[in-house]
Amino acid sequence: VLPLGAIRPRGWLADQLRLQAENITGRLSGLWADVGDSSAWLGGDGEDWERGPYFADGLVPLAHVLGDHDLLAQAQRWVDSILSSQTESGQFGPTTNDDWWPRMIALKVLISHYSATGDERVIEFLTKYFRYQFTTLPDRPLRSWGAVRGADNMLAVLWLHSQVSLDWLLELADILSDQTEDWGRYLTSDLITGKAKVFDHRTHGPNVAMGLKADIVRYLRTRDGTLLDRSTAALRNLDRWHGQVHGFFSGDEWLAGREATQGVETCQVVEGMFSFETMLAITDDADYGDHLENLAFNLLPASSDPEMRAHQYHQQANQISASVAHREWSYSGDDANVFGFEPNFGCCTANLHQGWPKFVASLWIQDDDVLTAMSLAPCEVDWRGVSITVSGDYPFRDRVRLSVDSPEAAEFTLRVRIPGWSSAPRFRVDGQIVDAEHGSRYWSLTRTWSGPTTVEVDLGAEPRVERRDRQSVGVRWGALAMVLPLGETWDPVPGAPGLGEWWLRPRRSWNYGIVVDGALGVDAWHAAEKPIGTAPWALESAPVSIEVRVAHVPGWTSTAAEASLPPDSPVLDFSAMEHARLVPYGSARLRITEMPTIAWERKDLI
Ligand SMILES: [Zn+2]
Repeated sequence: VLPLGAIRPRGWLADQLRLQAENITGRLSGLWADVGDSSAWLGGDGEDWERGPYFADGLVPLAHVLGDHDLLAQAQRWVDSILSSQTESGQFGPTTNDDWWPRMIALKVLISHYSATGDERVIEFLTKYFRYQFTTLPDRPLRSWGAVRGADNMLAVLWLHSQVSLDWLLELADILSDQTEDWGRYLTSDLITGKAKVFDHRTHGPNVAMGLKADIVRYLRTRDGTLLDRSTAALRNLDRWHGQVHGFFSGDEWLAGREATQGVETCQVVEGMFSFETMLAITDDADYGDHLENLAFNLLPASSDPEMRAHQYHQQANQISASVAHREWSYSGDDANVFGFEPNFGCCTANLHQGWPKFVASLWIQDDDVLTAMSLAPCEVDWRGVSITVSGDYPFRDRVRLSVDSPEAAEFTLRVRIPGWSSAPRFRVDGQIVDAEHGSRYWSLTRTWSGPTTVEVDLGAEPRVERRDRQSVGVRWGALAMVLPLGETWDPVPGAPGLGEWWLRPRRSWNYGIVVDGALGVDAWHAAEKPIGTAPWALESAPVSIEVRVAHVPGWTSTAAEASLPPDSPVLDFSAMEHARLVPYGSARLRITEMPTIAWERKDLI
């Protein structure tokens, strides 16, 4: 893994992180006591559990990938406060709370800080704390949240072992493993097959998102290859029973089945990203990169307004309004899908900050003399005196340019992960075609790099249709889920806390079916480009769209606030055909993502 700060965002990605820095992250500590001066993690007498560490876990990487002076000062305060809280025993953090769980987040904060700065205090601190855990855990084991999230603790222990090679750290990792939920077993053998009805840590959405990496973290310790297979099988089984049209699983806030109106919690999105980033780095399995991009380019931008002032607790794939109203969540309250400061519950307010900056830090991975682009979003990388600039506005475009500049001759391997949807990617090095090995998920070139070299990548994105239950469909273009946007009126709520709260009303009706077959179907579709706006995920400047034919489906109805299930497809009863433009999921906060198809070619036969 490259040091934090070695990868800097560019283009639309830099704009997005700048919006995050200027709005919710940069201003949160002044708006919210839970991460302000009164936080017990900063020596105050206020919140003493997960919120402080959650916030710092996003603040620290954001500060370093942007190199932002003000954020760096804020981040340093959290780090110094955590470090100075350690007692002689090795324990640290608020004295009013000895829960293992929030300390697991603080470990991630310190490792990020070390990655960026090399601050040796971190090594000493972690060694002392893990010694404390080593002697204390047998009598005071992980419990509750800690017992399902222990993989995060184990990951930090194995990270320290990679730095200092102390044997007892491996024993500690085994103790933690034994005390942590066996997620691989649950997800492959015992997984709930419908909407959860009662609380169980194993059906809690963010817990599942964090648990996804548990087998891979255990693999890092044991190198037992069966864990790799079980991890793949776990994801497949989760998708079978809870996979939604966008490719991630429901959790509102418990596992809730496959329907497009069930919610996904923002904590679940950012924890899922961290899990896939970890899994990709450990295994090099390119499929985890597809899962990661799916979240980064669809559910993550959708979880906030385009300027990152407010977020949803739950997002829906089929979302026809954002308002306080009853929706069929497995557990959460009526305000869970408004865009606000602390809708439903404040965990996401504290935790959402890690999403974008850790994604930037994970775009490239280094392993000895191999440097790999895991995702081709715009950035610049500095590595051993070599600079690489990635331009091309992926994923809104499918052509990317890598400008490699090596002032001194250097031999190394440059690799590019090929997304699973890219069936015939083309690579050119200074204009010469250098294709990937047939069927390989990585393009790879080992040579002596000297001076400037240009690598052009054409991923060849085409519109495609994915079949869902009842033969309804979702549409994809490259890494983007494409949706029918409903238009949006953003109604501000007077006197709302934080940076504001908005309820959203649609500007058109929503119950459409789509033509996917024949002369007007997917084979005739083309992606159209538009310039990317300064808020990259704003609806009015959606950077890519696909023109399709749709028609009203009168039989597809709604309850007060949400669409009902799509009728069986193809639908025989529909109104006049209309043109419509599908746009990226992350650009449309009101949208239909899963829709029935209409039998337009059969109309004369009906
Ligand atoms: Zn949350």
